[in-house]
Amino acid sequence: MSTSTASVLNFSAGPAILPPPVLEQARADILDLDGTGIGVMEHSHRGAAFTKVIEEAKDNCRRLGDIPDDFEIPFLQGGATSMFALIPMNLLAAGQRADYIHTGAWTKKAIEDARILGDVHLAWDGTDGGFRSLPADDELDLPGGARYTYYCSNNTIYGTMWSTPPRSDGWLICDMSSEMFSRPIDWTRHDLVYAGAQKNLGPAGVTLVIIRRELLEQSRRDLPAMFRFDQHADKGSCLNTPPTFGIHVMGLVFKWILEQGGLEAMHQRNLDKAALIYDAIDASGFYRGHADTDCRSTMNITFTCPNAELDAKFLETATARGMMNLKGHRSVGGLRASTYNAFPAEGCRQLAELMGEFASANG
Ligand SMILES: *Cc1c(COP(=O)(O)O)cnc(C)c1O
Repeated sequence: MSTSTASVLNFSAGPAILPPPVLEQARADILDLDGTGIGVMEHSHRGAAFTKVIEEAKDNCRRLGDIPDDFEIPFLQGGATSMFALIPMNLLAAGQRADYIHTGAWTKKAIEDARILGDVHLAWDGTDGGFRSLPADDELDLPGGARYTYYCSNNTIYGTMWSTPPRSDGWLICDMSSEMFSRPIDWTRHDLVYAGAQKNLGPAGVTLVIIRRELLEQSRRDLPAMFRFDQHADKGSCLNTPPTFGIHVMGLVFKWILEQGGLEAMHQRNLDKAALIYDAIDASGFYRGHADTDCRSTMNITFTCPNAELDAKFLETATARGMMNLKGHRSVGGLRASTYNAFPAEGCRQLAELMGEFASANG
């Protein structure tokens, strides 16, 4: 039968759980795509069968995300990390400045790469607060004249999430890797959003980029082709051989979310799922959440027991019950439950139940 989900709950932060019906379809398509007698990984990326796959994936992406016509949807490679470099490479020319909102490890890496390539200004720095909080608009230092403002909407490691996009100067660019399509996106505010697939969209190896055409028109041309956003967009994500299997599975995930009722429905489900676990934290007097309550993530729920020994004991107890990968990131410690789109509400309920029992027995 299908997948690990039968007996195991996978709380991994990424690569992470995928919807079982998507995996079933992918399994069939590995052997025979669409009755062609050839598996999806074995089709030419320029042949009719795969052209249909990529066009459908793009169409479903646009429909699901309610993405306006003046945005292009190139599928790239190299993960979110390559975007840390590609964004300033393409969008920052000599003498131009970008403003970065620093909310954790992933923005740190983006800032380090951008500093190699251009002038970077920190609009806010959450280092001293242990990245437990996010800034209010009036805390942002935006001097004016920036080419773009950069932020990360969900901080996978600390479990903080922006409920609305920040005030910005110039184009607004967002790393949505660990929450892409967990909720609707405000296209009046964003100019470029992107996500590595392996958190909430599909297998590692493909990076979803959604970019306003104006940025493509104004991006730098003095770069090797493989590193140019406009080249990938113009060539329909087939500038070179794209990650065909990853694109196919991501397309199946888009279709699956549409079948679940789309992004509004998914958002409500994610809020309800996360509330089960946050309620267990708040009701306990035992667990402590890492993120401030006003910026808690629906995707990555971070918390600790009263001491590290109990954290370890909790992990052991959870693992024995088939609740896997609850260990927090090494830089934060404690525990982290990742509850992406494909993660079942029933799993959140089971974790909350265990948390209650464990607190009673060890409090
Ligand atoms: C995982 C993650 C990344 C890094 O993704 P790669 O695909 O490994 O490069 C970047 N940003 C965020 C928010 C992430 O969660």
